[in-house]
Amino acid sequence: MRHVAIVGSGPAGYYTAETLQKADDIAVDVIDRLPVPYGLIRTGVAPDHQSIKAVSRRYEGTALADNVRFVGHVSVGTDVSIGELVELYDAVVLATGAPNDRPLDIPGADLPGVIGSAAFVGWYNGHPDFADLNPPLGAAGVAVIGNGNVALDVARILAKTPQEFGGSDIVAHARDQLAASAVRHVHILGRRGPHQIAMTPKELGELGHLERASPRVDPADLPPEGDDALLEPGMRKSVTHLRSFAANPVAKPVTIDFDFFAMPVAIEGDGHAERIIVERTTLDAELRSHGTGETYAIDAGLVISCIGYQTPPIPGVPYEHGRGRFANDDGRILPGLYCVGWARRGPSGTIGTNKPDGARIAEMVLEDVGRGAGKAGRPGLDTLLASRGVTPVTFADWRRIEAAEVAAALDGNPREKFVSVEAMLEAIER
Ligand code: NAP
Repeated sequence: MRHVAIVGSGPAGYYTAETLQKADDIAVDVIDRLPVPYGLIRTGVAPDHQSIKAVSRRYEGTALADNVRFVGHVSVGTDVSIGELVELYDAVVLATGAPNDRPLDIPGADLPGVIGSAAFVGWYNGHPDFADLNPPLGAAGVAVIGNGNVALDVARILAKTPQEFGGSDIVAHARDQLAASAVRHVHILGRRGPHQIAMTPKELGELGHLERASPRVDPADLPPEGDDALLEPGMRKSVTHLRSFAANPVAKPVTIDFDFFAMPVAIEGDGHAERIIVERTTLDAELRSHGTGETYAIDAGLVISCIGYQTPPIPGVPYEHGRGRFANDDGRILPGLYCVGWARRGPSGTIGTNKPDGARIAEMVLEDVGRGAGKAGRPGLDTLLASRGVTPVTFADWRRIEAAEVAAALDGNPREKFVSVEAMLEAIER
């Protein structure tokens, strides 16, 4: 028997388990610090993107396989160390994602009212770590820094009416606080131009169909239309949306302004964020942005930086600080220790990108592990955890949590999530 532990139950973890599980004589343990599985699908993907979240059904199929086990509410680093897992299992695969924000390194970034997207996204998705965030929504202006899909998610969620959350699984605290929000002007700040955005067409197009909010693009920021021919097809579609926003401004009570060539240089305010100072930029031949010295201010009581994520380092595991991921050679970190998904390649690509990534790392693991080295595996972990008084949450337990969430859903919504670990554990006991 060969024993594999996967740390992290998000997309990369379950795609890896999906391939491993098809091999003979294998037992796969998927470990997560939360009592609930699916990582980014549950707490990262936007609550109004249920079609993307539906992929969790596929992961459920893997989780229910005889040779796969969910080991929830077990913290690697606290309840069990990486070293212990490597001793117990033939292979340990880190699928821990990139849940930390890349730091926004400008004066004023530590003021109250300046929030990273990990916290804001976690808040509206009910991640227990961010349920008490209470983002300040009392001022009309908000600055969203970054030109990726996360910036789009954040701007859209801020701009939607309560009715537009129908059919989503946005959590009650976010639903209520957003319904009472005074936010009317959202600025999406890109330090480069329309041809350098990292936004995909479907997500960008959604901004054109919001009930009370309309996107605005300054036509002067757009490059000559003929230059679009040089773009790859997806980018071309995205830029076509920006051109349409520029050409057809629609008057609605909430505005979403795309501020291109706009580099944040400071956040100011009396004890909390009140405005963001932005420097206009130009691009050099390599398309890098450079400040021009010309600045302007945008009123913003809330600043959300959506400038990318990092994998949290784990003591003893080699780490590449510049890239914010584990140091690895195509997935191999150290003998018996691997990484996959965002923890391997950094925070890029869609959920689907993790499928071939997971399959490839699983094949590599199977080849390296051979028939297994007679390690203690699953029973060994159980003994160790029991000796420490740690009782893992099983997949059957999770299904009880899930049933309670589904039962509590508002009409037409898929679920009403528990937002604290205590409430999740209580739902198992009921
Ligand atoms: P991202 O796509 O890497 O975008 C990060 C943005 O932040 C870029 O526009 C970048 O600009 C900007 N940025 C970085 N450092 C900055 C700084 N110091 N000051 C100002 N701007 C800065 O990251 P993301 O939006 O977090 O998304 C992560 C991944 O998740 C992406 O692959 C994304 O497509 C995916 N995702 C997908 C969906 C979906 O499919 N619906 C939803 C959410 C996320 P530069 O280009 O100038 O560096």
